[in-house]
Amino acid sequence: MALQSTAMLESLRAILAIPSPTGLTTQALQWCADELLAMGVKAEFSAKGALRWSVGAGKKPARAILAHIDTLGAMVKEIKYNGRLKLSMLGGYDWGTVEGEYCLVHTQSGQCISGTVVNVRQSTHVWGVALSENKRSAETLEIRLDAMHNNRAINTSLEARAIGVGVGDFVSWQPRTEVFDNGYIKSRFLDNKAGVVILLAVTKELLTQAKKLPTRVDFVLSNYEEVGHGAAGMVASDVAEVVAVDMAAVGEGQTSLETHCTLCVKDSGGPYDHQLSQMLRQAAIQAGIDLRIDIYPFYSSDATAAWNAGLDARCALIGPGVDASHSYERTHVSALLDTAKLLLEYLKNQ
Ligand SMILES: [Zn+2]
Repeated sequence: MALQSTAMLESLRAILAIPSPTGLTTQALQWCADELLAMGVKAEFSAKGALRWSVGAGKKPARAILAHIDTLGAMVKEIKYNGRLKLSMLGGYDWGTVEGEYCLVHTQSGQCISGTVVNVRQSTHVWGVALSENKRSAETLEIRLDAMHNNRAINTSLEARAIGVGVGDFVSWQPRTEVFDNGYIKSRFLDNKAGVVILLAVTKELLTQAKKLPTRVDFVLSNYEEVGHGAAGMVASDVAEVVAVDMAAVGEGQTSLETHCTLCVKDSGGPYDHQLSQMLRQAAIQAGIDLRIDIYPFYSSDATAAWNAGLDARCALIGPGVDASHSYERTHVSALLDTAKLLLEYLKNQ
């Protein structure tokens, strides 16, 4: 096994640093396409903007491995009278998880303007004890831009427009990535850039293995998962087994751990395919992986999106444990390695 944690962490840092809120994923996917090309793999963009590539050419039916690159984010909904920006959410999260966050507004001209998500009542010295009653919603949170117009503070909607900000501009949250020597990684968007890095590492490893794969393996990096239709229509018709790689939900009552890979057997979309899940459990035993089995109460995946779009294939879901998902997330490099090892073991099985 030549999987290297240092290489995976390096890729993870790089991909986390490229903003990719749902709808604005081309740059992040191009980075992946370039990485693949350096391995000798030519990936292709689908018409919808997802990235796909294949390894191996064994007998049919084929297998597909999915991960999504799009992340939570927002769009400028309205430029307020005072030059602050109202937001429309991209993906599902609580507004409280982005209060105080630094962000970038991606303007039509390609500029990135820095800002901060602040409450309309934010200063202790102005509002005093009233702050304890603050609500977090699209009505009460706004972006304060770190920009000036003609050397003057932006205080009107006209001034905000004058620097290039417009309704419909994408907004990305700062990921705040930190990697520690003991293997912990904390960052926003480990969901699902950890999964993306796992697919790249597995591809690289498959290319170096002398043993031929029993079937062709298609890889898909989807770009609309956080809004529900990510891998819909993205899986080839001769694929019989689909494994979605996405973060495992860690928290009270869950078996998932930040240090481990989880097999999710059921989420909001219902149970995943039993036979394929059994194959993954068997592969984990073969590879000596302590695979967690879990149910996620509020969750949907690219596999469910593909099923909902009419895909006739077995689908399963695995992924590295991520604490505080859709907020200030954290995982551990050993979960990334275990997930990659599990995929490699499964893919070599008949
Ligand atoms: Zn996800």
